[in-house]
Amino acid sequence: MNANKLIELSQDLICITDDKGVFTFLNPAYTDMLGYDAKELINKPFFNIVHPDDLEKTNKEFENLLISEKTINFNNRYIHKNGSVKYIEWKATSVSCEKSVYATGRDITESKLREFENTELEVRLNALINCSTDFMFLLEQDGNIKIANEAFANNFGVSVNKLIGLNVYDLLPKKDGVRRKKAADKIIKERKPIVYSDERSGHFYETHIFPSYTNGNVELAMFTRDITERKLIEGALIASEEKFRNLADTAQVAISIVTTNYEKGILYVNKYWEKITGYTKHESLQLQALDIVHPDQKAMVNERATRRLAGETVPDHYEMKILTKSNQTKWVDITITLIDYEGTRAILTTAIDITERKHAEIKLRDEKEQIKTILNLVNDPIFVKDDNHRITMANKAFFDIFNLDENKVIGYTLAEQVPENEREQFLATDRKVLDTGIPDLREETLTSDGITKTIVTSKTRFIDESGNKFLVGSIHDITVQKNAIVALAKSENRLSLALETGHIGAWDLNLQDQSSHRTLIHDQIFGYKTLQSKWTFEMFMEHVLPEDRTDVEKTFKKALETISDWNFECRIKRIDGKMRWIKSTGKHILNSDGKPIALSGIIQDISEHKWSEVELVRAKKRAEESDRLKSAFVANMSHEIRTPMNSILGFSGLLSSSNLTIAKKDKYLSIIMKSGDRMLNIIDDIMDISKIEAGLVTVEIEEFDINEQIDYLYNIFKQEVEAKGMNLLFKKGLLNKEAKINTDKDKFIAILSNLIKNAIKYTEEGNIEYGYELISNGEDSIFKFVVKDTGIGISEDRQDAIFERFVQADIQDVMAREGAGLGLAITKAHIEMLNGEIWVDSNEGEGSAFYFTLPSKVSSDVNQAIQNSVASDKSNN
Ligand code: ADP
Repeated sequence: MNANKLIELSQDLICITDDKGVFTFLNPAYTDMLGYDAKELINKPFFNIVHPDDLEKTNKEFENLLISEKTINFNNRYIHKNGSVKYIEWKATSVSCEKSVYATGRDITESKLREFENTELEVRLNALINCSTDFMFLLEQDGNIKIANEAFANNFGVSVNKLIGLNVYDLLPKKDGVRRKKAADKIIKERKPIVYSDERSGHFYETHIFPSYTNGNVELAMFTRDITERKLIEGALIASEEKFRNLADTAQVAISIVTTNYEKGILYVNKYWEKITGYTKHESLQLQALDIVHPDQKAMVNERATRRLAGETVPDHYEMKILTKSNQTKWVDITITLIDYEGTRAILTTAIDITERKHAEIKLRDEKEQIKTILNLVNDPIFVKDDNHRITMANKAFFDIFNLDENKVIGYTLAEQVPENEREQFLATDRKVLDTGIPDLREETLTSDGITKTIVTSKTRFIDESGNKFLVGSIHDITVQKNAIVALAKSENRLSLALETGHIGAWDLNLQDQSSHRTLIHDQIFGYKTLQSKWTFEMFMEHVLPEDRTDVEKTFKKALETISDWNFECRIKRIDGKMRWIKSTGKHILNSDGKPIALSGIIQDISEHKWSEVELVRAKKRAEESDRLKSAFVANMSHEIRTPMNSILGFSGLLSSSNLTIAKKDKYLSIIMKSGDRMLNIIDDIMDISKIEAGLVTVEIEEFDINEQIDYLYNIFKQEVEAKGMNLLFKKGLLNKEAKINTDKDKFIAILSNLIKNAIKYTEEGNIEYGYELISNGEDSIFKFVVKDTGIGISEDRQDAIFERFVQADIQDVMAREGAGLGLAITKAHIEMLNGEIWVDSNEGEGSAFYFTLPSKVSSDVNQAIQNSVASDKSNN
């Protein structure tokens, strides 16, 4: 085989140059490798295609080659015809005799580039691992450090180069070293990576160890990171998340997070949500959000969700109904917010249970309806206006009175029809009531269909719980009352006029609050000039005379107890001290249950009437009495005068007969004389009483000795008394010279004589005693005289009457003896003329004692006094 053929087939580059480097031969591999045709290179120096950066080096090698004639190896770079760089490894030798150089070359571009790449990677990797703050190192099986980064070296305080080759376990504290070595051995043995964390001087480290296989050896690649910060952040994160969950769970608001499309799931719920819905957290997370929406509202909620997702604005706060696990309907106030939840858009809902409020609202609405129904039943127009004068509520009566439709009233102020400039005036009252809260009550007239009505409009302010002001008004038709009031006023006027004219005092007393009303005349009757501020029953009773109080009290008590009318008369003492008669009439005022609520009465001063009445009765009685007495007197007198007269005439007749004995004649004469005496006595008495009544008696005052007169009377009557078988006794109260008295002597004697005569007349046995004593001494000394007998006595009921004139005639008395019955009346009149008094002390059947007093001196004007007394006596009769 031809060697040339081999050269031609060789994959190596083969070339020959001269000592100048000019190609004399090139094989096809050479030209192919550099992209040239042989023609383009032949006879040209190879330097032309050497990489310019390698020219110098190549030239040096070429010269060495020429000198030493040795075979040398070298590398250099060539430029391919397309500009790319080719690395060629050369083996060349020079043959000096031929002045040629023989060379074979191999294209090592690929392996050279790989080599470059590797180196570059290593540099980059180094840079990379040195950038890291994590510790990175590679250990041989025994722990010798094969690779380490700067962070790791810094940790030990040395440079990377110094660290390489040291045993890592020797660098660690012994205890750690042993522990790490054990772990390392385990990894080598099990060929599984491990991760562990440890803490050193307040820092947390996480170490990853991987087994690494190099040339059949197991090495350990280690990577340690300071995770202190991460650890802290993690801790804080856990804490803050926990806080949020706690917060969410304690909130009294139901919180849920649901997917933006409600039909998808529920992502989160809090505790309160569980409480409202009745679903546990676990159950809730299985639900779709729409599951708990009340069927009535599913469509609405769904529609809003769709529109919200499409970016439309929809309400994000509203009230809705939900259906709990136990199928209970609840009302919630829900708020919807779009949020980012774990990287995706979600909906955060917060809900408050407002079921109770909602039920209350519904109830309120029902109640409002009820109120409306009730208001419509009320006959009086009623309306409610808001703070802007708009009518918010009115009843049927209101629409009717104004002849307006409901829809023309509700929401209107009714000032719409009023010209704009007058509206404020029209609404002024409303405004005032709304602003001040002072109720307004006014009477107005309203004319519709030609009929004028009087109405009373009442407006009151009402403030609701939220502070909204309302005006509540009512209208009351008082036309009928108004007319009645006018009529009443008229009649009241008439009544008060009548009361005034009649001088009648009117009063009433409210039994509930004890308030009383009186007319001025009422108080004037009690002597007050003006109406008193106060008037009580006690005040009234103070005025009543003490002797009338019991009766008045009894009458009132009975009227109150039996709830009946009263009518009584009593005497009062006015404040000016005057006594008056009043008449009180009154009645109870009852309520509809028949219970008394007030007393109403009138009083009248009836004094004039009363007195004239009393006077009349007295006068009548007196007239009757005196009439009766006078007839009796006349009858008696005719008897008393006829008896002695008959005797005188009878016995005078007898005297004229011739055959009379002397004795008989004397007896007849004595009878005639006795009868004459008796007649004379009667005529004397009649004369005396007539004189007294006519006021013709005068008093002659003189001083005399009482004792002398006592003796004188004794001498006169002694014989008469003893003739009746009795004793006449006397008693002198003073010694003879001391017993002086200044009075009318004749009358004094007449007084005592008359009393002694009576004593003799009305006594059959025992004693007749008379005398005196001085009962008070000094200037105004008074003598008390007595004439005492043991006779028939005088019954108690007659003891006053015997001093009256003509009494004896009136008394149907078995004991009455002859006499005109004038003696004691004359005696009493005489004693009183002498400023004395007379009285009797007597027991029937036991005797009588007549006492009288006389002052030692009679006042000088006694005659005038007698005139007066006679005059008044006359007027009384
Ligand atoms: P007469 O002329 O009837 O005595 P008097 O005025 O003297 O009238 O007396 C009035 C009446 O009083 C007598 O009728 C008699 O009933 C009664 N009377 C007067 N004195 C006595 C007396 N001493 N004892 C009892 N009765 C007497």
